[in-house]
Amino acid sequence: MALLEVRDLSVTFRRKGTPPFTAVDGVSFDVEPGQTVGLVGESGSGKSVTALAIMGLLPKRGAEVGGSVSFEDTDLLTLPDKQMRDRRGRDLGMVFQDPLSSLNPVIPIGLQITEVLERHRGMSRKEASAEATDLLGRVGIPDPKRRLTEYPHQLSGGMRQRALIAIALACRPRLLIADEPTTALDVTIQAQILALLSELVRDTGTALIMITHDLGVVAGLCDEVNVMYGGRVVERAERHDLFSQARHPYTHGLLQSIPRLDAPRGEKLMPIKGSVADNIPWEHACAFAPRCPNALDHCREVAPELVPDNGGMLRCHNPVGPVSATQGVGA
Ligand code: ADP
Ligand code: MG
Repeated sequence: MALLEVRDLSVTFRRKGTPPFTAVDGVSFDVEPGQTVGLVGESGSGKSVTALAIMGLLPKRGAEVGGSVSFEDTDLLTLPDKQMRDRRGRDLGMVFQDPLSSLNPVIPIGLQITEVLERHRGMSRKEASAEATDLLGRVGIPDPKRRLTEYPHQLSGGMRQRALIAIALACRPRLLIADEPTTALDVTIQAQILALLSELVRDTGTALIMITHDLGVVAGLCDEVNVMYGGRVVERAERHDLFSQARHPYTHGLLQSIPRLDAPRGEKLMPIKGSVADNIPWEHACAFAPRCPNALDHCREVAPELVPDNGGMLRCHNPVGPVSATQGVGA
C-alpha cells in the first residue's frame, strides 16, 4: 500500500449567487515513500486546490470535498480537526509559493523553527536551538547561527524559501507538498532549491508532491508526472516517457512552451492558444477541445475517460502518435 492514496478526489465551491464550481474532479494518484510525484498544469487547473484538500486546509464552509485521501490507514478527509492539525505538524508538511506570506513577519526565523521543534518534537529550548541551526545549515543558509536571529524581511527571496523549507522539515514530515516553491525566484536560485528538495527526498525518504506550471521543473525531479487540465488528470506518465512520448495534445503544448537549452537559437516557443477560460465543462465534452489542435467532432460531444495507455494513463480521444487498437475514435 502506498503512503498516500488519493482516490476520486473532488472539490466543489458553492457560493451564494454563483453557480457551483468544480475545481477538482475525480483526481486519483498514489505517492510512495521517497517518491516524487508531479502535479503539472497551467494556472487554474486545480493543482493548489488538490494540495489544500489533501492538507485539510480548504475553508470548511463553501468547499465540498469528495473522495478519499488515505495516509497509511487513515482517511484524512474524515479526520476530526484537532487530529488533522496534529498530522500537519507531525507527518505532513507544505511549502507555498510565496514564503513571505507563510512566514510571520514579526518573529525571528529561528524562533519560528524552534517553536515547531518544541511543540511537535518535544525538544527543550536548547536542543531546539541547536537543531534549528543544523536545519538552516542543511538547507544551505550560510552563517545559520546569525540568521536565526533575523526577521523574514532581512532575508532574500531565495533565503526565505530555504527558511520555509527548513520549517517544513523541522517536523520531519513523511509527506511534503511543495506548491510552486520556486516560481517567485530567479533561475539560479530556482535550480538550487530544486536540487535541495531532491537531495532531501533522497536522504530522508520523504515523499514529495511537486506542484508546478512548468514542465521544465519536473524534468529533473519527479518520478511520475500527472498533467492536470480543468480539474482532471489528462495524462500520467513516468518522467522519461512524458518527455519522450507524451500523448496528450495538452502535454505537447506544455512541452513546446518550455524554453530548452538544447533548442536551436532563435527557435520560437509555442504557447498553447487560448486560455483555461475557454474550458467546456467535462460533463459535456473534453474540456480542452476548444483549444486543441487535434480536436474531432467526437471530442466536442463525449468526454474522454482516463484509461491505461502506453504504460501510463491518458484521457484523450485523439492523442498524438500512433493510436492503439483499443482506442478507436468515432471519427
Ligand atoms: P492552480 O492549478 O493554478 O493551482 P487552483 O487550484 O488554485 O489552480 O484553482 C483552480 C480553480 O479553482 C480556479 O478556477 C480557481 O479560481 C478556483 N478556486 C480556487 N480557490 C477557490 C475558492 N476558495 N473559491 C472559489 N473558487 C476557487
Ligand atoms: Mg496554484
